[in-house]
Amino acid sequence: MQTFRDTGAYLQGHFRLTSGLHSSEYLQCALVLQHPEIAERFGRELASQLDACDVVASPAIGGLIIGHEVARALGARFIFTERDASGKMMLRRGFSVRSGEAAVVIEDVMTTGGSTREVIEALRAAGANVLAAGSIIDRSGGRVDLGVRRVALATLDVVAYPPEDCPMCKKGIAVEKPGSRPT
Ligand code: ZN
Repeated sequence: MQTFRDTGAYLQGHFRLTSGLHSSEYLQCALVLQHPEIAERFGRELASQLDACDVVASPAIGGLIIGHEVARALGARFIFTERDASGKMMLRRGFSVRSGEAAVVIEDVMTTGGSTREVIEALRAAGANVLAAGSIIDRSGGRVDLGVRRVALATLDVVAYPPEDCPMCKKGIAVEKPGSRPT
């Protein structure tokens, strides 16, 4: 967390998260991962909590840098998933997995686990054996259950509200969308 503060990646305000929930805090992983030496260190630290695997997979775009660094540290290859025109998460660009390959899914921040769950499903549909999932930050307080072992460098219990129950919305404070997706 100190690294996030030092790099300006820990934001405070009124944010609409990718999950649709509102929060007064946001961790902008891109700002911490703009420093390759930090990305490499986080990748090594996550890899040290994981077993060897054949392939690391991440959802684009957020998971790309950290997933690549975890794969480097594990000596595995790195692939990523993207959404097709219908919004379905899938392996594109000729990426594939062989039947029974050991896979790990890596994200930058996990809030609801939705993206990771979709990557796990895409890998399993392609025949991979998904061993574990990891993220730099787990914002769920450790509650997300993906049915596989899960690791994180920091587990936070960040308060997030449905928009209709958001105290900052009730005060009329403008909401920001700090991520990368169009609002
Ligand atoms: Zn709000």
